[in-house]
Amino acid sequence: MREYVFRVFEELVRSWDGEGVVVHFDQPSGAWMFVCVHSTRRGPAGGGTRMKTYAAPADALADAMRLSAAMTFKMACVDMPFGGGKAVLAVPGPLDGEERRGLLLRYADLVNVLSGNYYTGPDVNTSIADMDIIGERCPYVFCRSEGRGGSGDPGPHTARGVFHGIRASVWQVFGTADLAGRVVLVQGVGDVGAALARQLAEADARVLISDVVAARALDLAGQIGANVVAPDQASSVECDVYAPCALGGTLGAQSIPRLRCGVVAGSANNQLAEPEDAERLRDAGILYAPDFVINAGGVLYAWGVERLGWTRDTVDVRLEGIGNTLAEIYARADAAGITTAAAADDLARSRLS
Ligand code: NAD
Repeated sequence: MREYVFRVFEELVRSWDGEGVVVHFDQPSGAWMFVCVHSTRRGPAGGGTRMKTYAAPADALADAMRLSAAMTFKMACVDMPFGGGKAVLAVPGPLDGEERRGLLLRYADLVNVLSGNYYTGPDVNTSIADMDIIGERCPYVFCRSEGRGGSGDPGPHTARGVFHGIRASVWQVFGTADLAGRVVLVQGVGDVGAALARQLAEADARVLISDVVAARALDLAGQIGANVVAPDQASSVECDVYAPCALGGTLGAQSIPRLRCGVVAGSANNQLAEPEDAERLRDAGILYAPDFVINAGGVLYAWGVERLGWTRDTVDVRLEGIGNTLAEIYARADAAGITTAAAADDLARSRLS
């Protein structure tokens, strides 16, 4: 069994184009830790720590490899002097209290071994509080709470980047970036989606919101004058902009024909269920803002403030720059007759070469 596991790991690592993988089995919790450094060509590798239960350790390793490569492309597209990395803590089940704390401290020791070649931050199922724990032992961590010397929650800054990305996308399709009267549907009004919906309402857009937690959507709608859409109807409502800000994978062969929007531009990671969906969106005449570009605001903020010493003014300029980057991607896609996803990859590759 052990030999089989290592053979699978070996095959995965050999087929990958990244720089290195650290694999550690955490005996006390039964968790596997995978830290993938995909590229340090533009600077130290960075990417969040995901905590999740997987069917097999190899699935977790494959996830970490894929996500770390995506971070390399994200950093390059938004022109940050960092490379791509990602860590996955593949836990046997939910962990909290002292068990979770112990795992995070042992993980911090592992990150220390990389001596600053890999920096981490929050991701799926890890929080600012978790970053505070990692930060007790390890300096290579972003987004600790402000009380612990970190830059805190990146969500509102991600939302600001998405807002600029929506303006650039609307300009591309409708010839004006003015959002007044534009109908924008925000799917998922959690940390990012709620802040985005507020900004859209302030810009006089007609905001539609949808969340599986009905009370959350109703409450926000009352505050900002938005209308609530049932979750199962969100992706088929007529609107100018559909902003997925909940889970990934909402754009697929089944859902794309039902879309009645001109633009898809939201924060959710991995919005395309499969790469071919970029082509499907293009064929349907829908402009797609590549997710890893439009949702880079949190990275720009946290890494900019904590590592590059950016002021709030610089952060503002760089968040606005997400719109400019998307405009460049749209121009490349038009010129080459390719999808916006392919154009974003091209832009990243050109900055990596
Ligand atoms: P969150 O957990 O705070 O909010 C997600 C919201 O979506 C919740 O309110 C949840 O109830 C809702 N939701 C879940 N499934 C839904 C569905 N099927 N329909 C409608 N609503 C649904 O998460 P977040 O931090 O706001 O992040 C949102 C997305 O953006 C995620 O995909 C995340 O990976 C991505 N993202 C976040 C950041 C960040 O800075 N927080 C940065 C980059 C990308």
